[in-house]
Amino acid sequence: PFGGMPEEMQERHRVKTKKKTHEEVPALDVQKLPAPHVIKGRLDEYVMGQDQAKKVISVGVYNHYKRIAAMEEQEKAKETGDTNQMDWDVEIEKSNMLMLGPTGSGKTFLVQTLARILQVPLAITDATALTEAGYIGDDVESVISKLLANADNDVERAERGIVYIDEIDKLAKKENANQRDVSGESVQQALLKLLEGADIEVPVGATSKNAMVPMTTVNTRHILFICGGAFEGLEKIIESRMDTKTIGFNGSLGMKHEKNVGEILKEVMPQDFIKFGLIPEFIGRVPVVVSLDALDEDALVRILQEPKNALVKQYQKLFQMDHVKLDFEQDAIEAIADKALERKTGARGLRSIMESVMMDTMYEIPSDDTIEECVVTKAAVDGESEPLTIHEDSLKKAK
Ligand code: ADP
Repeated sequence: PFGGMPEEMQERHRVKTKKKTHEEVPALDVQKLPAPHVIKGRLDEYVMGQDQAKKVISVGVYNHYKRIAAMEEQEKAKETGDTNQMDWDVEIEKSNMLMLGPTGSGKTFLVQTLARILQVPLAITDATALTEAGYIGDDVESVISKLLANADNDVERAERGIVYIDEIDKLAKKENANQRDVSGESVQQALLKLLEGADIEVPVGATSKNAMVPMTTVNTRHILFICGGAFEGLEKIIESRMDTKTIGFNGSLGMKHEKNVGEILKEVMPQDFIKFGLIPEFIGRVPVVVSLDALDEDALVRILQEPKNALVKQYQKLFQMDHVKLDFEQDAIEAIADKALERKTGARGLRSIMESVMMDTMYEIPSDDTIEECVVTKAAVDGESEPLTIHEDSLKKAK
């Protein structure tokens, strides 16, 4: 009859919706922290280049969790009255981070990889979507609900998690704003509360506050906050402070010596951020500043091929499942990198370029059992031809 599902399907349906007894993910054991060089080594498997940034982040994260361990020990010592431990009453300040780097340089990716390595929950939010409580948009506390959800509603895990706030530069104070600034400075103020450590009431198992959902309290004291942004124009502020020019002329030789934006950003000081429009209290709460380099062709070529989950490897795997060997000629890889450079979206453009190059072939291959191999050429990337396909019988003929 219409309506009812066959019995076996009902059975399957029921089994499927039954709550999976998911593996217990242990809260990060702060006593068994991986050392900075170990963290960096793991990052190296996924994130190409950005060496300095990976180092700074590894140390920052290590210190962050060591600080938690120290605080736990102090608490324990207070309980047991162990005066030896209590002598150590030095409070280590939290090392929230601020990441500078152009779009697609891997800021989000770096944080995602970090959270995966440490097996801590991560919540990502966009600063431009945040508003003060009471205005249209997500209030800043919503990111803590996201974090709790990503920690499977385990408060203890959420409290050791990482929050990434993207586009923090868009919260810069606007000059001469007559209207009440609900999206800029006041959001910085609201975030400040989270960064300093506060008890936040969040709904359990839902992202919006609603009378029907139970609430719980998450303390943000131990949450690591990482803020990221492109900070376009910041280099000009740094320059005017340092009184150097991005592009200058070396008079005697007539040679152009150019200091690129990346190098200048490495000289950033707290006062530059304040001039940019971040409030001093906020800057005070993100003491670890990291800058990521813009990706050049070489970096993009490496990103295509070398990471553990490199795009080239992903497509090769997809093709392998159809029993087809996939190869990319080296100049084809370079052409893909060049296209991404043109788009000025960093590594972010690689995926869609790759997808459009491979589309027709991915359509064709499952329909033709005789295809054994596929070779992507530069011409295929430039749209002048299709990737080459080598068929079973042609291989036989060649033999
Ligand atoms: P951002 O947050 O700086 O705008 P993303 O982290 O979103 O940039 O980067 C976009 C994508 O590009 C990532 O998902 C990742 O696949 C890739 N990517 C960027 N930088 C790197 C890198 N250094 N190594 C490997 N992959 C990278």
